[in-house]
Amino acid sequence: MTLGAHGPAAETLRAYGPTASFCPRCAAQLSATPPTSCAACGYQLFINARPTGGVIVLDGHPDDRRFLALKRAAQPQAGRWELPGGFCDGWEHPAEAAVREAREELGVEVELGDLVGMYLGGYDFQGETLPVLDVFFLARIATGEITLNPSESSDMKWFPLAEPPPLAFSTMDRAVRDTARRFGH
Ligand SMILES: [Zn+2]
Repeated sequence: MTLGAHGPAAETLRAYGPTASFCPRCAAQLSATPPTSCAACGYQLFINARPTGGVIVLDGHPDDRRFLALKRAAQPQAGRWELPGGFCDGWEHPAEAAVREAREELGVEVELGDLVGMYLGGYDFQGETLPVLDVFFLARIATGEITLNPSESSDMKWFPLAEPPPLAFSTMDRAVRDTARRFGH
C-alpha cells in the first residue's frame, strides 16, 4: 500500500474497517462510520469481527502440562510470544483454519481436541484496529516434526500452562488462562 503525499492520516481516512469513510462499492464519501448506508448508491456497510482459528498445542504430560508458543517474526507485535493460528480464508471454518495454520507455521499435522472458546479482540494493522473473533482449540501433534516457518516465527518454546508469558494478543492470554483452569491449575 502506498501512503501517498498525505502520509498516514490519508491512509487512515481510506481504511476499510471500523473507520471506513468511503463506500467500498462506489467510492463515494460516507457520511458516518459503519454501520451505515452510502447516500450515493445505497450500499449498506457493516463491519464485523473477523474470525480466526488457533491452537493451544499441549505436550501431553498430565502432571506438567506445557503449551507451545511461537515468537512472532512479523508485524504486528513482532518479537512477542503467540499461539499458532491465523485468519480464516473466505468461507473456511475456524477449525479448518486452525489445522491449516498449524501446518503452515509448524510443519506438522495437528489433531484438534475441545473448543477452548471464542474471544473478541482487536488487531492493529495497516493503520486501523480491526475487531477479530479468535477461536482457539486444544490440539496435539499427530504427525511430523516441528519446523518453523522463518517468515512467521523466529523461535519456539514450551511453556508451563500455569506460568505463561505475556502473549502478543490479550485473547491468547485469556485462552491460555481458561485452558489452565480447565486442567485445575
Ligand atoms: Zn456507494
